[in-house]
Amino acid sequence: MTFFERSVRRARIAYFSMEIALRPEVHTYSGGLGVLAGDTARSAADLDLPMVFVTLLSEQGYVRQEISPRGEQESGPNPWSPTDWAKPLPQMVAVQIEGRDVWIRPWLYAVECPLGHAVPVLLLDTDLHENEPPDRRITDFLYGGDDAYRLKQEIVLGIGGRLILRALGFEIEKFHLNEGHAALLTLPLLREAARRDADSSEPLKQYDIGAVRDRCVFTTHTPVEAGFDKFDYELVRTILGDYIELATLRALAGPTRLNMTQLALNLSGYVNGVARRHAETARQMFPGYEITSITNGVHVHTWTHRAFADLHSSRYPNWAHEPESLAFSDQLDDASVWNAHQVAKAELLATLSTETGAHLRDDVPLIGYARRMTAYKRPELVFSDIERLSVIAQKYPFQIVLAGLAHPKDEGGAKAIAAFHRHIERLDGIAQIVFLPGYDMRLSATLVAGCDIWLNTPLPPLEASGTSGMKAALNGVLNLSVLDGWWLEGCVDGVTGWSIEGTPPGPGDGLALYAKLEDVVLPLYYRDRPGWVWMMKQAISKIGPLFNSHRMMSRYVTEAYAR
Ligand SMILES: *Cc1c(COP(=O)(O)O)cnc(C)c1O
Repeated sequence: MTFFERSVRRARIAYFSMEIALRPEVHTYSGGLGVLAGDTARSAADLDLPMVFVTLLSEQGYVRQEISPRGEQESGPNPWSPTDWAKPLPQMVAVQIEGRDVWIRPWLYAVECPLGHAVPVLLLDTDLHENEPPDRRITDFLYGGDDAYRLKQEIVLGIGGRLILRALGFEIEKFHLNEGHAALLTLPLLREAARRDADSSEPLKQYDIGAVRDRCVFTTHTPVEAGFDKFDYELVRTILGDYIELATLRALAGPTRLNMTQLALNLSGYVNGVARRHAETARQMFPGYEITSITNGVHVHTWTHRAFADLHSSRYPNWAHEPESLAFSDQLDDASVWNAHQVAKAELLATLSTETGAHLRDDVPLIGYARRMTAYKRPELVFSDIERLSVIAQKYPFQIVLAGLAHPKDEGGAKAIAAFHRHIERLDGIAQIVFLPGYDMRLSATLVAGCDIWLNTPLPPLEASGTSGMKAALNGVLNLSVLDGWWLEGCVDGVTGWSIEGTPPGPGDGLALYAKLEDVVLPLYYRDRPGWVWMMKQAISKIGPLFNSHRMMSRYVTEAYAR
């Protein structure tokens, strides 16, 4: 029996996500949401969970970032080659879009674990000669195009994904909607739960809503209202036709526009946010819904630098399978921890030199800031007072590496990238600052291991969780972050990293950041190396055992899937 035949027989949980970061060469992700989905799949493979993953092929990728001489982001398509990594399956299904049949074929990608287990990922593709030319483009661009394009993609993902699973013979009991993008999946499930003899004047009584709710798990990933997909019912009617009566949709997804988050909330029996604070915020945004929290985690084997992996392997050969054993990392000897870190730092410096021509020093602390470039993450906060930053740099030299993509339609993000260029020029000769273009999984792994300090400055409570700081901690890179998302749970100030707490919170964060850097973080680096290494070990041994995707998946299994 092939791995796939075994998966078809075994899988009982289907995880639907618009994006998933499988490997750097497969451009089916844009950022944190996709990396989380990828880490979920990697842990599912390690733990041999009966799961199948469904996403879009996104053959033209998300964004290929280049920086112009003036420091502006120039973005283009970022194609990848499915034939190198996946194989097309013979089965096809059709969904109705604007009254036409749109055919969908899945490609099979296997997420393999070193222990020999694997989970399948189905990548849905509409680029088939059976389809009209515009329909062949539906699965090209991740988060590309207008509302109509996005709605078509979400039909392919949700409705098409459900049909594909049936056509392949999967018998799924639980459907996990990773963010609202997948919420149209509830519509075929509703139709499967139709009551034949119901009174057709009552929109909701025609369906066994409870049966759908029993099958769906919904994870919401953002408290930013603009992050929820919403579609005009006019558009829905044109594109989706009468797949489900409008009255039913309005009752479930909001009266004025189809809100994908609302739809998912109403049809999922288990709903969670991705950190404790995020679940609290979500409960305030959606009163009356039961929303619990499962804090995100990262896949330790993927995000731990080889130099640290070797240290762990020599003591706990099974450490990556049992990340709990990282609790003993506080017993590592100082020299081997520092040496492992300097190996990772040297690798990052080499990458910076080849990719940007900049030569940074290995004996000067390196601050990393790599984020999706968008307003609420406040990418410019560290540069809010250049004079002050210069004074600090003269006292305690430091270097900064910046990276991150802006969505081509996000003007705030594009502005931040352009502004970096000016800040870099103004600090010329005072502090070395480099922008590393093309932030992706590969660069992320190098950055989270090779910096000394990992900076994060979101505006609370808008960072749902964040995960890059967890990756940094695994490598003994110390977080310096505003208290939001997962950091509220992971931060013991002065032990696992540092908090930035402005007075007042929000506007005061810039001053608090400078004070922490000048009075605490940089002096520790220069004057108390044993104290610094002690904190590195605290970060690994306290954050690693908890903020990993094995722990996260065991909670989804016991609380959400086995419900
Ligand atoms: C981990 C990761 C993220 C998530 O970063 P946060 O800013 O902490 O949410 C985004 N993009 C890439 C490429 C990553 O590896």
